[in-house]
Amino acid sequence: MSLLIVGSIGTDDIETPFDSIKNALGGSTTYISLAASYFTAPISIVGVVGDDFDKAFIRTFEEHNIDLEGLQIVQGGKTFRYGCKYQYDLNVRDTLYTDLNVFENFDPVIPEKSKKSSFVVLGNIAPKLQMNVLKQLYNPKFVVCDTMNFWIERTKEELLEVLKLVNVLIINDSEARLLAHEPNLIKAARLIRELGPEYLIIKKGEHGAMLFADNTVFSAPAYPMENIFDPTGAGDAFAGGFTGYLHKTQTIDLDNIKRAVIYGSVMASFCVEKFSTKGLEDLSYLQIHDRFLEFRELTNF
Ligand code: AMP
Repeated sequence: MSLLIVGSIGTDDIETPFDSIKNALGGSTTYISLAASYFTAPISIVGVVGDDFDKAFIRTFEEHNIDLEGLQIVQGGKTFRYGCKYQYDLNVRDTLYTDLNVFENFDPVIPEKSKKSSFVVLGNIAPKLQMNVLKQLYNPKFVVCDTMNFWIERTKEELLEVLKLVNVLIINDSEARLLAHEPNLIKAARLIRELGPEYLIIKKGEHGAMLFADNTVFSAPAYPMENIFDPTGAGDAFAGGFTGYLHKTQTIDLDNIKRAVIYGSVMASFCVEKFSTKGLEDLSYLQIHDRFLEFRELTNF
């Protein structure tokens, strides 16, 4: 059964202190599905774009064997557009604009064959759309959810309803503090898990990620990198690697979830090495496996 991924697909304008790019392929679904495509198949995505969406971007999905039956192309519509600027500290990102465009009236329709999907990633989109997706599925067993400050600040009540139904929430440290109204991450994690998710992953940018499960905290290092070109999509690449690995292995226990966290970190590290999605477009499984082993070495003492 396919891994179902729902979220944003769009074009990004990105500025870092070193370079900038306009009209780049972006969106949460895009990064998640590309990262997951190195682990598992079939992958189905559900999303919406306008008819201005570059055909070359469609080919990028196709080249990674990503099923586009659930992609709606709105004639005359404008594609979702996101602009951001990174400060010298690349952990700090200022959003310049979020033009929802065709997302404003998006009504996700899950293709019949994907309604049976047991593994689902709810990428970063409006919580009411995430809920709409969950309601169409027959029996989702493992729901991974991402969100961001934009939705926590604007649509918290709707987000809380979604959180009751998810198994894993993946957010970054500032989003965790915002969601829990709690500056201490350990306390914030406890409060968030009380809202529903059995597993919580808090990403800490270049400082790695923390998994909270049962009474355990598992800390994954970040890959020591000298050249970070563009952190955009790192969180989504993490979610794609994490869920792609779990979908491939079909084993949900703590040891395997820890391994999935490392595969998520591996994919995030490849993502930030190049602008936009380029770091996720031409990898081999061998490169991924080698970096997994390097991660293991980092934590071995
Ligand atoms: P990340 O760096 O992992 O947070 O993800 C960046 C991607 O999320 C970019 O490619 C954006 O197009 C997309 N994005 C940014 N803001 C939003 C939003 N409010 N809703 C949906 N997608 C978004």
